Amino acid sequence: MPATFKGGLHIEDFKDFTNKLPIKKLSDCGQHIFPLQQHIGAPLEAVVKVGDYVKVGQKIADSSAFVCAPLHSSVSGTVTDIKPFIHPSGAVVTSIAIENDFLYNISESVIPKGDPTNYTPEQIIAIIRDAGIVGLGGAGFPTHVKLSPPPDKKITHVIVNGAECEPYLTSDHRRMLESPDMILYGLKIAMRVLGLSNGYIGIETNKADAIKTMTAAADAYKGVKIIPLKTKYPQGAEKQLIKAITKRSVPSKGLPADVGVIVLNIDTVTAIANVFKTGMPLTSRIVTVSGDCVKEPGNFEVPLGVPFRHIFENAGGFMKEPRKIIMGGPMMGIAQFSLDAPSIKTTSALLALSDVGKTYDDISPCIRCGKCVNSCPMHLMPLYLNKAVSEGDLETAEKYNILDCIECGICSYLCPGRQNPLQHIRVAKQQIIEKSRKS
Ligand code: SF4
Ligand code: SF4
Repeated sequence: MPATFKGGLHIEDFKDFTNKLPIKKLSDCGQHIFPLQQHIGAPLEAVVKVGDYVKVGQKIADSSAFVCAPLHSSVSGTVTDIKPFIHPSGAVVTSIAIENDFLYNISESVIPKGDPTNYTPEQIIAIIRDAGIVGLGGAGFPTHVKLSPPPDKKITHVIVNGAECEPYLTSDHRRMLESPDMILYGLKIAMRVLGLSNGYIGIETNKADAIKTMTAAADAYKGVKIIPLKTKYPQGAEKQLIKAITKRSVPSKGLPADVGVIVLNIDTVTAIANVFKTGMPLTSRIVTVSGDCVKEPGNFEVPLGVPFRHIFENAGGFMKEPRKIIMGGPMMGIAQFSLDAPSIKTTSALLALSDVGKTYDDISPCIRCGKCVNSCPMHLMPLYLNKAVSEGDLETAEKYNILDCIECGICSYLCPGRQNPLQHIRVAKQQIIEKSRKS
């Protein structure tokens, strides 16, 4: 029986568009835009100025804050601007614009680090930070911070997340088929940092070929186990993955480290392996470009800083007018309003869809069918959260553990009354967090 968690939902996955298509390189792009906000944590400050010549892999921004990771150029060329540009979040964010000279001169700082066993855990963590590596699955939490849990947290498990449970997304799937050794090598490095002799890779059963490939490759990597997971949304959410593999429950308001677990994404461990093997910091990632409006959907190796328009052009452009563009998956991704926004470290997918999905302009009252309660993977009561928040009663919402909501969207997706609890919950969570910060 594949491992799983209680709750969740089977949803149509639309992965057939791209799951058989090998990763392709993107064509060259003239201007790259690098926002100084790429991930969770402190914004960065430019360490280059307008007119500077930069090379591939050269650091262009950094910060002294602990929760942050530096940013490196994906091209060689000249810095033409440091000014506000549109960001995938919809905000306007200070960004570095670099005019590509198409020479791809590599920075002298790009030196393979070699055998990880020559380094102490602290030195490996410093290398990971210097390489700008962040979680490439969603929020982009800096990986060196994740690999430095407080001393009172005894870590027993490191899990690589190969669930990729969001519809349409196939970049991790392709990475597992095409570079299994890089993933395993990166996982072994993480195991060394954490002092663990075992590591786990969880993969949903709808990726049977990836389970087979990774299991065969893992033979050569002592202590690595491949765990098949039931195909169910949100199997790839951290807390649900941990429950499925370790049977441990992350406590309310807690973190994976509270139950001795660190979870890393497939592309994140690949990036760790890459810096040891080639010295190249994080300057590109795999992006699935898909949806019924895309002429030639595919999986692309996308350098940082490429405008979404250019990425869609590489996928043949649109065969019909999209009504919705999303960065990420359809359940948790961010709607896009401009194709000028550039690829950042957390751009896992770009979707162009003709169907806007459910609209919430014809809401009927909650009929207390209980569907949202039965399927909530966090065992919350979305109908009561929805009611409390709609009435402005944040105190009651907190009592119902609103902050534990992982924003998976299931409650809004399946509500027959066209209620949208997630929308209300998201806004209320921000208000509560803001209030507690101020106090
Ligand atoms: S799914 Fe919708 S209608 Fe059913 S209990 Fe939840 S909020 Fe109410
Ligand atoms: S969005 Fe939050 S409340 Fe709704 S089902 Fe997901 S975890 Fe539960």
